[in-house]
Amino acid sequence: DGNVLDGNAVSDRIREDLRESIDALDDAGVTPSLATVLMSTDPASETYVSMKQRACDDLNIDSVHRELDADAPAAELYDTIDDLNADPDVDGILVQMPVPDQVDKRRVLRSIDPAKDVDGFHPENVGRLVAGDPRFKPCTPHGIQRLLDAADVETEGAHAVVVGRSDIVGKPMANLLIQKAPDGNATVTVCHSRTEDLASMTRQADIVIAAAGYPELIDGSMIGDGAAVIDVGVNRVDADTEKGYELVGDVDFESAKGPADVITPVPGGVGPMTITMLLYNTVKAASQQADVSVELP
Ligand code: NAD
Repeated sequence: DGNVLDGNAVSDRIREDLRESIDALDDAGVTPSLATVLMSTDPASETYVSMKQRACDDLNIDSVHRELDADAPAAELYDTIDDLNADPDVDGILVQMPVPDQVDKRRVLRSIDPAKDVDGFHPENVGRLVAGDPRFKPCTPHGIQRLLDAADVETEGAHAVVVGRSDIVGKPMANLLIQKAPDGNATVTVCHSRTEDLASMTRQADIVIAAAGYPELIDGSMIGDGAAVIDVGVNRVDADTEKGYELVGDVDFESAKGPADVITPVPGGVGPMTITMLLYNTVKAASQQADVSVELP
């Protein structure tokens, strides 16, 4: 299908280019390293962490993994973060969300060294992003910018409608798109659970970014002719499959692909880009901490 944007292909190209940055660091005696921390038995979280580790292995990025019991005291997680902050062999730290209830999530985000905060969720890094001087762009919205670029979707002057206002997708996406930058300069509308008449908003959009976490919330009748549709959603719905479920996006792909000029599938759209931009941030963190400048893709 001509208008389906293959996130795996775009992601592979960036990963190949990242190899060159990693080789350049290697020439200077630097090997990037990512620490992943998992404090959960949620199968989706376990899958995400192992996908991230595998992607690191593939690119010769060192990865260390810390696993904590989901019912361990919160202090164990705070201490683990302190250890990783102090470890000169660790360039990037990723605490897989969500964390259990006994943990203060905001404290976790605040306690990661901002220089190692490859998710970009530390308040200092959020502030820098909003101020137009990002250190680490959050992986999912950054990946979406790269996807739009790969599909030659112009953001400048475009009306982008972001559906969702989470701290990890919706808000940073909106912030990136309004930046005075070639991959920004959009007019942005942010919709959320209290938005009245979502369809009237999305129909006006040149770019729809669906990040509501609600299966097939947006169908073809809500998409204007020629729009670019980016589906961030990953929803498990019961299905007659081996696993008993299937993954569907926030967009009803079959009906939206008619009016859309460009559309991302689920899986194989935004997901691989998120991991690629995590690798990118890890390489960037290593380069900054070793004070060895390398070109990044
Ligand atoms: P979230 O639950 O934190 O936020 C969802 C947002 O959508 C909220 O701000 C809410 O106000 C809004 N919303 C919910 N129902 C709505 C409705 N009916 N109309 C309009 N807005 C509505 O979710 P999140 O962490 O931002 O993730 C969103 C989705 O993206 C989830 O399915 C998640 O699994 C997926 N996700 C995918 C990737 C990836 O790399 N592919 C990364 C992060 C999140």
